[in-house]
Formats: sequence, structure tokens, C-alpha cells
Amino acid sequence: LAGIYIHIPFCKQACHYCDFHFSTSLKLKDQLISALLNEIRLQKSFGDNRIIETIYFGGGTPSLFSADELISIFNVIAQTVALSENPECTLECNPDDLSPEYLQNLFDSPVNRLSIGIQSFFDEDLKLMNRAHLSQHAHDCIQDALKIGFDNITCDLIFGSHSTTDQMWESNLQTLVDYQIPHISVYGLTVEPKTALSHFIQSGKYPSLDDSKYQAQFLKTQDLLCANGYEQYEISNYASNQKISKHNSAYWQGEDYLGIGPSSHSFYDGCRYWNVKSNVKYIEEIKKNLIPCEKEELTEYERYNEYLLTGLRTMAGCSFQKLKSFAVEIQNHFEAIAEELIDKKMLIRNEKAFYIPQEQRIFTDGITQELFYVV
Ligand code: SF4
Repeated sequence: LAGIYIHIPFCKQACHYCDFHFSTSLKLKDQLISALLNEIRLQKSFGDNRIIETIYFGGGTPSLFSADELISIFNVIAQTVALSENPECTLECNPDDLSPEYLQNLFDSPVNRLSIGIQSFFDEDLKLMNRAHLSQHAHDCIQDALKIGFDNITCDLIFGSHSTTDQMWESNLQTLVDYQIPHISVYGLTVEPKTALSHFIQSGKYPSLDDSKYQAQFLKTQDLLCANGYEQYEISNYASNQKISKHNSAYWQGEDYLGIGPSSHSFYDGCRYWNVKSNVKYIEEIKKNLIPCEKEELTEYERYNEYLLTGLRTMAGCSFQKLKSFAVEIQNHFEAIAEELIDKKMLIRNEKAFYIPQEQRIFTDGITQELFYVV
């Protein structure tokens, strides 16, 4: 399994909690698209000996691109690397961009999975987060996408915000269940440095986030979604009818992926790469046929820690097979700590892997840190 991620670095406005790379000016859009196409060609060798099974347009806000612009990017990928027969092709999109006409154009394109940034069905939440859409847009786009025939839809929701009461959170979840959305991603609001949210909290405009609300809403999510037939296959991701994200699952299992676009990350052949976080510099360098990225070769310890970080977030867990690929001292370290965690019922061993039981998922970060190998 290998995947390609394309970063679309534009948004209509800055959400108060967001620290992703994007520009709110679309002035460089055409130049950026040319640069993306060029980078795909420059990265051709990633496709040597790899079949690409997933393509993921993330951002930023990829739904600011027309269906034709997205198709032109898809076509260059298809001309440059070998694609599997029916690759999963996901588009992150915002409700205010999803008119029925645009949705129909997407439905007729290679995009076969929509990832809709709903975040909440309550206008007070959306306003506080500075989202560009209203609750009505969220309902309309889901109904229109279902009517047009999209059957692989995932929606994002954010819990733990100042304005989100437990009742509102339950109602957000229930609304997606009622729409029979097959995949739901839930993210706890976090305060990232240099965001408007962080500024508001530091200046005393808002209080700090409430940990007990965070925990209660995390646990409510598990209860409500699992009772409605969803599987928490990753700490933030729930799927029904096996509609898991192939792209993200490959990433969590440590498979290779290539990131295209400013600020995108890649991981392959044991190395991590990250592209420059500036649209202007990215375009300039790509024009010279250079890929503006930094590279880091991971040590074996770092690769092990990274594998724990992603693997233990999933229900599939960390496999014996992969753990055996690490040096004996790392394996011994893992086994000694794992035994203690198993005794405390914080880890489970099945016939293939170690994983964190559902009732302990809320402690995933702490459990993972205990297993880290620190030199
Ligand atoms: S739309 Fe998405 S990427 Fe853009 S600012 Fe909001 S959360 Fe960040």
C-alpha cells in the first residue's frame, strides 16, 4: 500500500483553532496548481516499484478548487505513477463550498470519498470557531451529497469547545448517525500556539479549555457511536460497514506515503521529508525544478517510537511481525513494559498484535509514552 497526499494551501478565512498551513488570498492559485503538477512529475521515482492505492486532497480547503482543477491534478498523478484499479480518492471539503452543482461535478470525477468539515450543527459553535459555514449549510450539503449518490462520506466533528454543552455534543453525533454517515472523525479541540484561540485564552477573553468536559464528550462519543454500530478503529475515527479510511489506515500502519505541496510531509524508505511552509517559496523553487524539502533519516529508535505513536492509536494495534523487525534490545524493552501494562489491563495481546482496550483509549498518549524507547 502506498498513498499520495496533496496539500491545497488556501482557505476562505482562518478558523480560530487552526495551525495548518494556508493562505486566505487566492492570488497565487493558478501558479500553485502549476507547481503542484510539476512537483508530481519531479517526484516520479516515488512510483518506482509502488502501486498507489490512495490519493488524498487535504488542506487548507481543497473544495476551493473546481472539479476540473482537481481532475487535472488527478490526471497528472495517473500519468506519472501506477495507480491501483480503483484508488480511494478523498477530497476534504467545507460545507459552504458544496453546492449541488459542484457535488455533481465531483461525483462525475475520480473523487469517490468526501471528507466534510462539519465540526458542529450549532451556529454558536461555528461562530466561536470562526468557521465559514452555518449549520444550515452542513445539513444541506449532507442531504445533497447523499441524494447525488456519494456512499463513502466522512464527517469531522469537534468536541470540547467552550460553547459545546454535553447535550449539543450528543445531538451532533446523533445527527450524523441519523443521516447514516458511514465514517465519523471526532477531534477534541486543542489550543495550538500562535492561533487566535490561544491568544483569546492568554488574554483572558476565554477561560482555558475544560478537561472534564473533554473527557465526558470523548467517552460519550465512544458510547453513542459504538451503540449505533460504529467501530472505533482509531482513537479519533469511527466506521460502520467497514468504510474505514484506507489512506489514513496505511499511514497509521507505517506504510509509505508521498506528500505534494507546501508544508506537506512524506515518509518513505525510513526517511521523513517535509516541504517548505510558504506558497511563494514553494512556487519559486519548483519553477527551478527543485523540491523545497528537508529530510530526516530516522534512527531505529525513532522509527520504533513513531510506530507506537501511530499503531497504538488503532484497534489493529502494533503487530508482532513489525515489532520483531526492531533490534533485540528494543523488543526486550517493549516486552518488559508491555507485560506490566497487560497486568494493569491497559494493553491487550491477541494472536497477532498488542492494542489498547477501548475503555483505556482515553489514556492512549500516556500508555504510548511508557512504551517509548528513550536513549
Ligand atoms: S478550513 Fe480547515 S484548514 Fe482552513 S482554517 Fe479552517 S480548519 Fe484550518
